[in-house]
Amino acid sequence: ISPKSIVQDACASYSTLEKLNERVKPALDDLTRTSDFFSYYRLNLFNKKCPFWDDENGICGNIGCAVETLDNEEDIPEVWRARELSKLEGPLAKHPSKQARKDHPQRPLQGELGEDVGESCVVEYDDECDERDYCVLEDESASSKGDYVSLLRNPERFTGYGGEGSKQVWDAIYRENCFQKSSFSHSADLGMSANYNPAALDFKHVMDAAGRQAQLEAQRLEHPNIPFVSSTGYEVEDECLEKRVFYRVMSGMHASISTHLCWDFLNQTTGEWQPNLQCYKDRLHGYSDRISNLYFNYALLTRAVAKLGPDLVGPEYTFCTGDPTEDLATRVKVSEVAKQAGSTPQIFDESLMFVNGEGPSLKEDFRNRFRNVSRLMDCVGCDKCRLWGKIQTNGYGTALKILFESDNHSNKIPALKRTELVALFNTYARLSASMQAIGKFRQMVEAESGQK
Ligand code: FAD
Repeated sequence: ISPKSIVQDACASYSTLEKLNERVKPALDDLTRTSDFFSYYRLNLFNKKCPFWDDENGICGNIGCAVETLDNEEDIPEVWRARELSKLEGPLAKHPSKQARKDHPQRPLQGELGEDVGESCVVEYDDECDERDYCVLEDESASSKGDYVSLLRNPERFTGYGGEGSKQVWDAIYRENCFQKSSFSHSADLGMSANYNPAALDFKHVMDAAGRQAQLEAQRLEHPNIPFVSSTGYEVEDECLEKRVFYRVMSGMHASISTHLCWDFLNQTTGEWQPNLQCYKDRLHGYSDRISNLYFNYALLTRAVAKLGPDLVGPEYTFCTGDPTEDLATRVKVSEVAKQAGSTPQIFDESLMFVNGEGPSLKEDFRNRFRNVSRLMDCVGCDKCRLWGKIQTNGYGTALKILFESDNHSNKIPALKRTELVALFNTYARLSASMQAIGKFRQMVEAESGQK
């Protein structure tokens, strides 16, 4: 990859994004590592069954797959404890309408919340997708069987999860990209899942094509004009922008996960966590398309965060932790990330999507397919991988919502839930860390070849 070449379907070069990341990363690390608001996540990690197939066989029993949940209420910031959340329960705790808030910003609305609870601390009870959601949202309500997780204490890294279980999930994810060929009926009806049996689908062409990947990469370097074939064998170059973007998001997420597991790898001989260069070479180094897709995702999230920026500094979001000093500190940190993300001129142009050709008709399909990918996370048989898989699909889904679901007239971004904000910024932080790790891996490869 030449640093000056433009990342496909984005409007920035590799080196532009790398330079941007040097500014964004410190701010993102500060936000995700030192603020309570962005380092805890509540989700339903253990109680949802895989809606697509019987997942009993794919369960990972490694210690590395385990997630440490916060069972002790004292470890959770006060306003998120069940006791506090239950104060907000019931019809009196309805989120005030936007109009009511605009008309009477000072007046406490009748029955509003528990005392001293900022408005954006309201837990929204409907677990249903808003029609503009790209993900099946995590229900944060006190009554849901959710678990609190400290993201700092459960870092995304090598777990040992693999084999048929993970292969089945990745296959199904890429299968979603196959817009015309998919066997799903995208009626947005969950009932469809009962009929979905990936074992009965023909994945053979996908796997055969994967085997040919190295050969194709070599051909591509020699003949740059031949049609691009993705790592999973789907031809994407001649497809419309929307379908390419869907594929890039999935492949970029996959590449980012691979990067983390190779960077934070358990050396089973010494028991130490350290980078595994061979792992990087096997999964990423020869695959310029995977790396390009990771950079593409970085551009996409940067644009979403930059677009959201002005809303984050306004009164709509209060980052309530129960401590006003910390709330303010969190706001300052989040503003810094948004400022840095917005410091490079537009690096992804969302206005080109869903407009030309078959674009407009694809939007609902695109959203439904994305929701299916988010449901597929319940089929991931490793708790730690499922945790980060859920966070990242929610993060990408939130970015897509920001970019494509703004009000047509006012350009207003839909109000985001806490889980969406936390997922968005943590996913951005994951991509940022992946880009840095890839840079270091590249240096290691160069150093190694210099020694030969
Ligand atoms: P896989 O990574 O499973 O890839 C399967 C096939 O997909 C490859 O053979 C290749 O043809 C194709 N492919 C690979 N990369 C790409 C790409 N970027 N774009 C397009 N196609 C590609 N393991 C951990 O150790 N830690 C984790 O946190 C973790 N999280 C996971 C989260 C999810 C949602 C899933 C499904 C799996 C996760 N795993 C994790 C498992 C990990 O991703 C691999 O599946 C596992 O390490 C086995 O790797 P593999 O070499 O068989 O290839």
